[in-house]
Amino acid sequence: MKTISHLIDGQVVAGTSGNTTEVYNPATGQQTGVLDLASVEEVDAAVASAQAAFESWGKTSLATRTKLMFAFRNLVTENATELAALLTAEHGKVLSDSAGEIARAIENIEYACGIAEHLKGDYNEAASTGVDVYSVRQPLGVVAGITPFNFPMMVPLWMIPNAIACGNTFVLKPSERDPSAPLFMAELFQQAGFPPGVLNVVQGDKLAVDRLLDHPDVKAASFVGSTPIAKYVQERAQASGKRVQALGGAKNHMVVLPDADIDMAADAAVSAAYGSAGERCMAISVVAAVGPVADPLIDAIKVRMEKLTIGDGTNPESEMGPLVTKQSQERVAGYVAGAVEQGADVVVDGRDQNFDNDGYFIGVTLIDNVTTDMDCYKDEIFGPVLSVVRCDTYQEGVDLIKNNPWGNGAAIFTQNGAAARQFQEDADAGMVGINVPVPVPVGYHSFGGWKDSLFGDTTMYGPEGVRFFSKAKVITSRWPDPANSRVDLGFPTNQ
Ligand code: NAD
Repeated sequence: MKTISHLIDGQVVAGTSGNTTEVYNPATGQQTGVLDLASVEEVDAAVASAQAAFESWGKTSLATRTKLMFAFRNLVTENATELAALLTAEHGKVLSDSAGEIARAIENIEYACGIAEHLKGDYNEAASTGVDVYSVRQPLGVVAGITPFNFPMMVPLWMIPNAIACGNTFVLKPSERDPSAPLFMAELFQQAGFPPGVLNVVQGDKLAVDRLLDHPDVKAASFVGSTPIAKYVQERAQASGKRVQALGGAKNHMVVLPDADIDMAADAAVSAAYGSAGERCMAISVVAAVGPVADPLIDAIKVRMEKLTIGDGTNPESEMGPLVTKQSQERVAGYVAGAVEQGADVVVDGRDQNFDNDGYFIGVTLIDNVTTDMDCYKDEIFGPVLSVVRCDTYQEGVDLIKNNPWGNGAAIFTQNGAAARQFQEDADAGMVGINVPVPVPVGYHSFGGWKDSLFGDTTMYGPEGVRFFSKAKVITSRWPDPANSRVDLGFPTNQ
């Protein structure tokens, strides 16, 4: 049984708190590791290391930062197979999905490799006679990232590359459920040649998170996770004067108009609802089927569901793996049971599929005639369950999205350009897909939802990530002849 611990000041160090938790392989239900949980003192040691490293890292040239970021990018690429194996072993997602996660993570490192371009300021010569005005962006200091289980590599790398390329130093608190991949990623970061303390990893639970949020030397907190914790993190971090961005949960709708290509819409719905067992914040969990499209669409989705292969993520045949924990498995089954009790039609019941092992598997579920008062509609299930809400009109579909508390992603499937253009304007969500079911923006745009899917002022990665992890300074400068100097109490005006 392996022990998974912290990386502080450039070294993997054993935990000293005496507190631990178990790590499991979701495909077998077997415990595979013991995770050290950090004490306040261990979090403080990581922050102290980051604070000490900041003194020189914050002043390191853009050339050196870029060179090291390229080296890190290359090491992640070279070790992608090992990283994917670690992801699958603790998260459960299939290996091809783990490889996809790593590819999207690398996009974010590549964006940070262009940090010299992203940090360019503005310059105005002669704003007033003999006066020039220009702006620069400077690092904040020590910043913290707190990340969820569902993308243990990609989400930390939504934050770390931009933060560190901007000149900050970083303390990461990964999810307790799948901590090995982020720890290995941090070891690769050290191998790339970054100085000790620039990136630290503390494994931990609420105690570690709270200490990071309260610590006076931590200047910003970047969080991704469920909505109640996102809200809590925002409030607690702001109370101690930090800059904060906190991304929460989701309930993403896919509106299918009557003119949509049924096969394409069904392919998209199945891929987006059941990929990664529905444990994606951009998963489609509701299809809003408009008018006569519902019956043929449900038939086409059903046919595809029957062909899905669910099994151990390390088996190349598997298209979907288990859920992350036994509790998740029970929770998802509970929502399906609740849908039956509340009067929905369960077209395919994932609970019926038997898996001959102790892993946290559940089959895929499709629920028809779902209404907005049902729990399976109201809550984020975070499992392989797709609800169909039948709508008479396009407007009803748009209103569903508007009236939903979350606003992460929304998609439309149609062949009508004007309807798609209208949806782009109407959809009350931060990321919109037009015939694209999972519209996760590329690394050079930014990621973030609206409403209860994001608390804070900036979205994540890309240009907004650079803005979040740097602060602007504007310099007004003149080089007058000292012979012309005089006292003038008037407010400076420009001539
Ligand atoms: P979670 O909120 O349970 O945990 C996220 C992090 O917060 C973990 O590091 C955890 O240790 C910490 N945490 C948990 N409870 C805490 C508490 N009481 N106090 C302080 N810290 C606490 O989320 P999860 O189950 O790991 O991840 C799934 C959730 O994340 C889903 O809701 C999903 O939609 C969301 N998510 C959102 C996005 C997005 O971009 N909006 C992306 C990925 C996941």
